[in-house]
Amino acid sequence: MKHPMFTVDHDLFRETVRKFVEKELVPHAEEWEEKEEFPTWVFRRMGELGFLGLQYPEEYGGQNCDFLFSIILAEELARCGMAGLQMGIGVHNGMATPPIYRFGTEEQKRRFLVPANRGEKIAALAITEPNAGSDVASIQTRARREKDLWILNGSKTFITNGCRADFVLTVARTETDGGKPSFTLFVVEKGTPGFSVARKLKKVGMCCSDTAELLYEDCQVPDANRIGEVGKGFHHIMWELQGERIVAAAFSVGRAQVCFDLAYKYATERIQFGRPIASFQVTRHRLAEMAADIEAMRQFTYNVAWQFQQGEYPVKEISMVKFLSAQMAFRVADQALQIHGGYGYMMEYPIQRYWRDGKLFTVTEGTSEIQHLVIANELGL
Ligand SMILES: Cc1cc2nc3c(=O)[nH]c(=O)nc-3n(C[C@H](O)[C@H](O)[C@H](O)COP(=O)(O)OP(=O)(O)OC[C@H]3O[C@@H](n4cnc5c(N)ncnc54)[C@H](O)[C@@H]3O)c2cc1C
Repeated sequence: MKHPMFTVDHDLFRETVRKFVEKELVPHAEEWEEKEEFPTWVFRRMGELGFLGLQYPEEYGGQNCDFLFSIILAEELARCGMAGLQMGIGVHNGMATPPIYRFGTEEQKRRFLVPANRGEKIAALAITEPNAGSDVASIQTRARREKDLWILNGSKTFITNGCRADFVLTVARTETDGGKPSFTLFVVEKGTPGFSVARKLKKVGMCCSDTAELLYEDCQVPDANRIGEVGKGFHHIMWELQGERIVAAAFSVGRAQVCFDLAYKYATERIQFGRPIASFQVTRHRLAEMAADIEAMRQFTYNVAWQFQQGEYPVKEISMVKFLSAQMAFRVADQALQIHGGYGYMMEYPIQRYWRDGKLFTVTEGTSEIQHLVIANELGL
């Protein structure tokens, strides 16, 4: 069902992204997953097509689009069958560059945001550490000031785009005058003395996405690479994560839709006991339930996206839609794999990728349990 909030421009954009995905991404899915990396030309190509930096002004290489374009991009990219690719693009686009646009200087925007929006530079965001996951306030990577330099020491883990990023927006602990711990953002560029990739991590799914452990050993970062105010690092990243959680929900809806389409096709083609398995009542009901699950979450996602677009900040609903959509997409992928029987478990059928990739979305960008905490707080509990 077409939602009334979408205009003709939104529809045209959806069509353009869909064609790009079908023509330029889908044919490579197996190869890139096997290689555990999608090529860097994907960033450049998406920059050329204007898909990166949708939300930024044209003077910074952006498209000046409203928030709904990002929702459409997420839903349509889900069709490529490589959630890892989408995560690489999503971190670059929706997590690492927004603080630079919002809190960076004009010079920093020219140096980092413009080439990122063109896909000429790849960006990563490094928050998580071996001993600081959900509990972000326990981050131990430290930054100490020495004249015009900041000296960073520590390590980060699970960093998407980490191996090949041209710059990593890094959260580090700084001390304020009163000796109170606080956090500050730094752009750490590839080749900075003391900065290195410790290793590339192997994963259950999201295989074509590069996920790294990073090391900062007396890493010298110029003060000109500090983003925003000293001590305001969390404030500078937290505001944008809300929008990104709605985009993550749209991505889950998109993946679930593909799983449904694959299961529907398979069920109508697979013959057992002399008839298509789609004719068995259990399969019909299973598909009906999957369709209802997806539609309910699509409407919820669109509704929250619409509120966000109007300038509202519905924190409770954002957490709800983020964890519910991730759970729904994983449930639908599981049902779709079941419909495929043994073939679904074979690597040559794409459904297994959606099933493996889908698990991650109950963990990243705030686990489902952390979303429950946010909701409970918002409920005044
Ligand atoms: C493939 C991948 C890519 C990633 N990309 C990035 C990236 O680009 N940048 C980045 O900074 N990070 C990234 N992450 C890290 C991700 O955000 C963290 O994994 C996530 O925040 C959870 O942290 P953790 O893994 O340390 O789990 P933990 O925080 O140790 O949680 C373990 C379990 O305990 C639960 N738990 C924790 N605290 C509570 C609580 N208070 N109440 C109830 N339950 C709780 C959690 O929900 C979870 O079930 C990525 C992770 C993966 C796997």
